[in-house]
Amino acid sequence: MTKLAYLHEPGVLYNLKNRYDINEIYTYTGNILIAINPFKNIEDLYDVNVMKRYKGAAVGDLSPHVFAIAEAAYRAMINEEKNNSILVSGESGAGKTETTKMIMQYLAFLGGHNASEGRTVEKQVLESNPVLEAFGNAKTVKNSNSSRFGKFVEIQFDKHGRISGAAIRTYLLERSRVCQISDPERNYHCFYLLCASPPEDKEKYKLGDPKSFHYLNQSNCYELVGINAAQEYLSTKRAMEVVGINQEEQEAIFRVIAAILHLGNINFAKSEEETDSSVLENEESKLHLQITAELLMCDPSALEDALCKRVMITPEEVIKRSLDPLGATVSRDGLAKTLYSRLFDWLVQKINVSIGQDPESKCLIGVLDIYGFESFKNNSFEQFCINFTNEKLQQHFNQHVFKMEQERYTKEGIDWSYLEFVDNQDVLDLIEKKPGGIIALLDEACMFPKSTHETFATKLYQTFKDHKRFIKPKLARSDFTVVHYAGEVQYQSEQFLDKNKDYVVPEHQDMLSTSRCSFVTRLFPPLTEETSKSAKFSSIGSRFKLQLQQLMDTLNLTEPHYIRCVKPNTVLQPAIFDNMNVIQQLRSGGVLEAVRIKIAGFPTHRTFQEFLTRLGILAPEVLRGNIDEKEACKTILEKAGLTGYQIGQTQIFLRAGQMAELDALRARL
Ligand code: ATP
Ligand code: MG
Repeated sequence: MTKLAYLHEPGVLYNLKNRYDINEIYTYTGNILIAINPFKNIEDLYDVNVMKRYKGAAVGDLSPHVFAIAEAAYRAMINEEKNNSILVSGESGAGKTETTKMIMQYLAFLGGHNASEGRTVEKQVLESNPVLEAFGNAKTVKNSNSSRFGKFVEIQFDKHGRISGAAIRTYLLERSRVCQISDPERNYHCFYLLCASPPEDKEKYKLGDPKSFHYLNQSNCYELVGINAAQEYLSTKRAMEVVGINQEEQEAIFRVIAAILHLGNINFAKSEEETDSSVLENEESKLHLQITAELLMCDPSALEDALCKRVMITPEEVIKRSLDPLGATVSRDGLAKTLYSRLFDWLVQKINVSIGQDPESKCLIGVLDIYGFESFKNNSFEQFCINFTNEKLQQHFNQHVFKMEQERYTKEGIDWSYLEFVDNQDVLDLIEKKPGGIIALLDEACMFPKSTHETFATKLYQTFKDHKRFIKPKLARSDFTVVHYAGEVQYQSEQFLDKNKDYVVPEHQDMLSTSRCSFVTRLFPPLTEETSKSAKFSSIGSRFKLQLQQLMDTLNLTEPHYIRCVKPNTVLQPAIFDNMNVIQQLRSGGVLEAVRIKIAGFPTHRTFQEFLTRLGILAPEVLRGNIDEKEACKTILEKAGLTGYQIGQTQIFLRAGQMAELDALRARL
């Protein structure tokens, strides 16, 4: 891209489209790799022979490829003993997860142990993907295998460059999907897999047709095109085995999954004896309650109480208050979500323990696969957090590509006409500043019992009246708009307070901690006296902010490589390239600015020393005796007949393509 004679949006688009039409889905823009989802298998694009070709090759020697980026990260790590990271971004369905898997496959190829059998570290790392996908991915309108969590995989290497450990961190699993889906989306894959398990398993988990479960039948979609759920169930179990989840644990996991399905079928009706209280609706609900209790190995009447009653502690006495049918249903769904998210966290934790961390490891490569910018008709707390993540990553990208470049020029005293780029620090302040940012105000609202989403919104309107990045939409009573780097998004604040509260109902906690199943009790460790008081409310937003900050701190210690995945159309079909869609994604990914800066600037820089080591051979006479490094570099450049480069205080700055010219001269010697 940086070699294009005319650089503007249509030119970039034209280039990408032409390449896409001939199955060249990868294109470099400076150091960024653009990957356009082909929505079909391109033959021989990823096989082991291709891996062999990319091994040892420099970026640019071969056609652009995701392997070339992984190769570059690996070589940089080995040669410079520095941590590297590969940041994969793009909107839902753009191909992030598939790209991440290719990267991991290639790293396993480079740093594998050649063992044909057994559970090698790299095998466990690779097999963690299908496990996490079974429990954390679901069909959405945008992608039939959409990741509903963010993921950062840190692959550790020993001093021989072999994979020696790994750590997986996940971010913000979408909890609401467990109890609420709409056509044509689906719940998490694992539910359908389990319903398609062999008869003896179905019997064991008391399962039947997925259509009979409320948590699944809110949508009419049960099957995925081209996927055999029964086979998928078996292969998921095999993958679980590889990552160290034994048969007994698998059974417990699937019991909890089945219990969640049965739980969803427990309905409540108004009690005829007591006002404002509820009873199980009918015989069927009683049966499902019985089965749920059996699967969770807890007492059925304790389960019923936990769902329908709340304990009130007043200074005088302890009262059991009944919930009305609606309250009991909310309680039921809350329990389902809590069970599921604890189960997911357990899986991640377990995988980490069994892969193992290498305390001796000197170097690592981090691979980030995280949800891209989202803007829908309705945007809630989830979109808010997702877009916050993207603001953070965009800032990291800006800082890296733009600021660092400019600062380097300035420091070296290089003539450099300042290039404008959109800085998003002000949006980040709006969201995360403490005190006074949106998250802080949300936490305040959550702690104050009388708050509603309306009082929260009013507070936002007052506080950010004059903020450039905040808009109160006309006519809106509780919506608010944030002007993100990638565009305006209007958020509906209705569920913000609820969704921000990570709160396990103490009655649920108590009931589950008496389970006879040690797996279940381990998901709900008893609260200490201390935490049970203070942990009445724990903020998901604040915790997420902290996690993101830790992620940024980790990333800041690495040499980043960027991959921008692009979705060429919204119908998920091959060979359709929708210009407007693509350009929008390039804009919001900062790709075009990066192109501009690369061309305008000096993409290659080397210290005098590095330059002389590599190219001194072009003018051996300058290396004799007591040399002035700067002068020596100058002589070499003049001798090579180059123009337009710049010589800074300590470094040589070359225009795009000039290093290749010098290398070619050297090769000719
Ligand atoms: P989400 O944010 O929803 O998780 P994503 O960016 O991770 O989306 P993927 O799941 O990686 O998207 O890709 C969506 C689909 O696109 C894949 O299931 C696959 O069918 C197709 N796809 C993606 N990348 C490739 C590729 N390199 N070659 C062939 N098909 C691909
Ligand atoms: Mg994904």
